Amino acid sequence: MNNPASLVLASGMSRLGTESAFEVLARAKALEEQGRSIINLGIGQPDFQTPQNIVEAAVKALRDGHHGYTPANGIRPLREAVAADIAARRGVTVDPDNILVVPGGKPTMFFAVLMFGEPGAEIIYPNPGFPIYESVINYSGATAVPMPLHEKNGFSFSAEEVLSLITPKTRLIIVNTPANPTGGVVPKAEMDKLAAGLEKHPHVAILSDEIYSRMLYDGREHATMLAYPALRDRLILLDGWSKTYAMTGWRIGYSVWPANLIGAATRLAINDHSCVNAPTQLAAIEALTGPQDEVDKMMAAFAERRKVIVDELNDIPGFNCTEPGGAFYAFPNIAGTGIGSKALQDRLLNEAGIATVSGTSFGRFGEGYIRFSYANSVENIREAMARIRKIL
Ligand code: PLP
Repeated sequence: MNNPASLVLASGMSRLGTESAFEVLARAKALEEQGRSIINLGIGQPDFQTPQNIVEAAVKALRDGHHGYTPANGIRPLREAVAADIAARRGVTVDPDNILVVPGGKPTMFFAVLMFGEPGAEIIYPNPGFPIYESVINYSGATAVPMPLHEKNGFSFSAEEVLSLITPKTRLIIVNTPANPTGGVVPKAEMDKLAAGLEKHPHVAILSDEIYSRMLYDGREHATMLAYPALRDRLILLDGWSKTYAMTGWRIGYSVWPANLIGAATRLAINDHSCVNAPTQLAAIEALTGPQDEVDKMMAAFAERRKVIVDELNDIPGFNCTEPGGAFYAFPNIAGTGIGSKALQDRLLNEAGIATVSGTSFGRFGEGYIRFSYANSVENIREAMARIRKIL
């Protein structure tokens, strides 16, 4: 698109980044339309259908005439269902009035960063990490301070290292477990250390992105940041339905805000999108309160695929893949191939028809890695790995 020279865009626009997984998806679709066989291990979305009981709840809601606006923070029965789910799974009491229902996981990070970010402020974020953190921090004018995640720690953070990054200018710190793109899981002991250290920095708010909280393997337990009463008055929790219930396209998520911030967050919601559509909110109640066996089945499938992809990746010369503890991503170290991450992403797509995402799409500490989303069948994963071995 040409930008006529007379238009002057706000400076923030030149700092706004993107999520390359969507660009890879578009290129993969274009190649498919040209008749190429493409195996998509790029985009981070479950390949399953939303469970039928959830779909039916939305259809019923539309038939019953739920066509209008809802309260901006979400309908009360949904916020009560979220509070009950948090109590059951995280063992923490949350007031439904502190919950904000939003269109997906992303609005929570956008609102949290806009609330704290401006020139002169610093925001600490995981790197490699979900690319939108860094993008929105830059957009806000704040300085994006990377929290490096190391392969040798299973891509968990080191609390000591994170705490050493805090300055008087730090306004917000973003943590994510289980993590995208690494599948890393922060152990409870490390979270305890971070929480204890943060008590000494009362000027720092925390955004805890726990969107993969139900996607853990080998009996790992989720270490939620909600568990620390001393941090609750400055903790923002991000979670949602996209990944757990295969509902990425429905656009619904939720956040928990401290009492002193929920009003500002709701005002951002009113300015931005008014509310999430009512049928989706009613479907989200069914997701939380209805049978969970479809979620269990999806997780069993992901567990099997994880094993297959990690074994297969470790069989490719130059690849070394740490076992991911959660989410549905493998993030092998590809330094041994001698090929840069982005160059390898392009070669895999163009020569082997395999869509993946370069580690550099997740920040500069992602160089030397490449992300495989194993939201695809075991058969396709095996075929993809065979094609990669062939071209390398
Ligand atoms: N947070 C993380 C860590 C993610 O990986 C994603 C999506 O990939 C999101 C948030 C955004 O989720 P949603 O699609 O619900 O906006």
